[in-house]
Amino acid sequence: MSPKLQPVRGTHDLLPEEFEKFHAVITRARELATLYGFEEMATPIFEATEVFSRSMGETSDVVSKEMFTFETKGEESVTLRPEFTAGIVRAFISNGMQQHLPLKLFSTGPLFRYERPQKGRQRQFHQVNFEWLGDDSAEADVEMIMLAGHLLYSLSGKEGCTLVINTLGDQESRVRYRETLIKYLTPYAKELSQDSQRRLASNPLRILDSKDGGDRKILENAPRMTDYLSDAAKQRFDKICTSLMQENVPFFHDVRIDPALVRGLDYYTDTVFEFVARTGELGAQNTVLAGGRYDGLIEQMGGKPTPAIGFAAGVERLLLLMSGTWKYVPDIKLIIMPLEEVPSTFVHPLAAVLRMLLSDVVTQRKIKGQHSVAVYWQGKLGKRMEKAAKYGATHVLILGETPVFKDMKTGNQHTISLAFEDLENLIKSIIP
Ligand code: ATP
Ligand code: MG
Repeated sequence: MSPKLQPVRGTHDLLPEEFEKFHAVITRARELATLYGFEEMATPIFEATEVFSRSMGETSDVVSKEMFTFETKGEESVTLRPEFTAGIVRAFISNGMQQHLPLKLFSTGPLFRYERPQKGRQRQFHQVNFEWLGDDSAEADVEMIMLAGHLLYSLSGKEGCTLVINTLGDQESRVRYRETLIKYLTPYAKELSQDSQRRLASNPLRILDSKDGGDRKILENAPRMTDYLSDAAKQRFDKICTSLMQENVPFFHDVRIDPALVRGLDYYTDTVFEFVARTGELGAQNTVLAGGRYDGLIEQMGGKPTPAIGFAAGVERLLLLMSGTWKYVPDIKLIIMPLEEVPSTFVHPLAAVLRMLLSDVVTQRKIKGQHSVAVYWQGKLGKRMEKAAKYGATHVLILGETPVFKDMKTGNQHTISLAFEDLENLIKSIIP
């Protein structure tokens, strides 16, 4: 016997029950995207490798260790997307979307990173992603962060997450701070982790993001970005924090300024932020959503200088965050059971009418959930009832000489008329 086939390490099958929740999270994100004036777009799942290496930075963890890169038969190097922003910026430039600015863009789909799989960390995972291109105002930052807060609030409530925020400052502030940080770290160079030693030359700010214990100790007394901000950068950040920390912001009350928050990618400028879970089952992977401003990226990738801000939330982590608070929407599951004497030519149109009515009422009333009408054609009635109960049927229509309609929850049953209006009323009566 050949060995049983298994999914590839770090990938995960979404079986129906889990998929329902997964789908609900994405639907909620999509609804909020619309509510905040975003339009949805999709880019390819793979891009020329350069799209990611140029934007995310050669020294970032993602580019240096986590990309799924391969050569095509035409000998091009392509990479499965590890994030959305780079591909969206590439699409923005390739499609001449400059003329349509400002743009608010929503995307969702799978992403790929070669990481050590753990709870909340997979090699194929999913994100909901929001980008706002063409607006450099502090107000855009506030609105984006409010949208992020709204998304998490609607999935897990106000207690769900803490907003952690920082500014990397403008170009001028960053250059000044970079020099100071190098000066501080150089005497410790030999004690730093391998990764951080490499970064000291290439991208010292990233050292602040290190998770290595030894690095963290050295960093305790490091100079702080906050003290090196230009007046303009400081004012901008203060304005944003003041707006977000107001009591009447409905989506979060817990905001923490963390001067060590730098985020892992090269392209961030000014505001960077994360939402960290306080509840749920996330363990070490408790950052559920992350983002920031990237005013230099579009130009760096060959477009006209265009300010932008974005964020992404990991769908798998949102699911873990919600695991305690998942609100079950009862589905209508109606099973038709025709007895032997009833011809199938009679059952098919009846099933069609019931499906149409159910779908119409659900749409009209904007009722959530996954509602279905199925026909169980074969087997003894008792066996069919067992199967229906196992499936979680809410209602059964037994089609014999006199049709009987049964509510599976209460056990009540009564005969019904199959006239169109009567069926319509019946369907309306069973929908919450
Ligand atoms: P981490 O520090 O956890 O590796 P990151 O900084 O690499 O996160 P981002 O690139 O900012 O993460 O991605 C944004 C969000 O995408 C994360 O907050 C997380 O929810 C999700 N995410 C990132 N990598 C993974 C992964 N390998 N598996 C599942 N979700 C992920
Ligand atoms: Mg990572």
